[in-house]
Amino acid sequence: MDHAKDKIITYSSLPIGQEKRTQFDQLADLLVQANAQVNLTAITDEEEIYEKHFADSLAIRLWEGFADIVRSEKKILDLGTGGGFPGMPIKIAYPPAEICLLDATRKKLEAIDVMISNLDLHDVRTIWGRAEELGRNKEHREKYDLVVSRAVAYLPALIECAVPFLKIGGSFVAYKRGDSQEEIDASAHALQELNAEISETIPYRIADGDPRQLVVICKKGQTPDKYPRRPGKPMKKPL
Ligand code: SAH
Repeated sequence: MDHAKDKIITYSSLPIGQEKRTQFDQLADLLVQANAQVNLTAITDEEEIYEKHFADSLAIRLWEGFADIVRSEKKILDLGTGGGFPGMPIKIAYPPAEICLLDATRKKLEAIDVMISNLDLHDVRTIWGRAEELGRNKEHREKYDLVVSRAVAYLPALIECAVPFLKIGGSFVAYKRGDSQEEIDASAHALQELNAEISETIPYRIADGDPRQLVVICKKGQTPDKYPRRPGKPMKKPL
């Protein structure tokens, strides 16, 4: 693939005002502080936090459908948020978005809760649990307009975990690094089983120059009751 024309996203080029930049500065400080207690990120260099976490998380603005999601205050789920990515930067840059940050590790979510309250953010909350279980919970199944996920699992496994959370017609945006063609090809069966399809892939780069892409998946019909399978199964035996 020729990546020469990929969009490049850098923190300084983001169309965000000073007030939000101040919040990003606070978030960077809070992240470094929290990271001393809980392992939230391997990236601790300040500049790298801005480019590899903040700018990368906001690459979602390259997807045309995103404008609609934030404009109409739809519900977003960040699956496997870890240290809060991509969910926290999305929340800061687009305050009307209603976001749930899901992760299986409670300590990480407790650290994020501190960041949320220090930054005085609203309509953003953390949910502790395995995606395979929460995706079967009535409170969460087929309740979201958008699921985002970065660096969590192999795409076929991720599709099985993410799509059950979506309303029919909703979208799942997976952030992938490097060449994801093999994962995309391997996802055909998972997509078919989950009544979903890839609507587009959006190549981009951040400051480090590595090829990355957003894989945008649309949910076409109801998720069969058997999905997601029990915890661990989607990763161990991908569809
Ligand atoms: N999205 C973040 C973190 C990636 S690390 C980032 O890009 O920086 C992957 C995270 O996914 C970990 O915090 C892990 O606890 C979580 N995770 C992995 N499998 C999960 C599952 N099945 N359910 C919920 N969280 C999961």
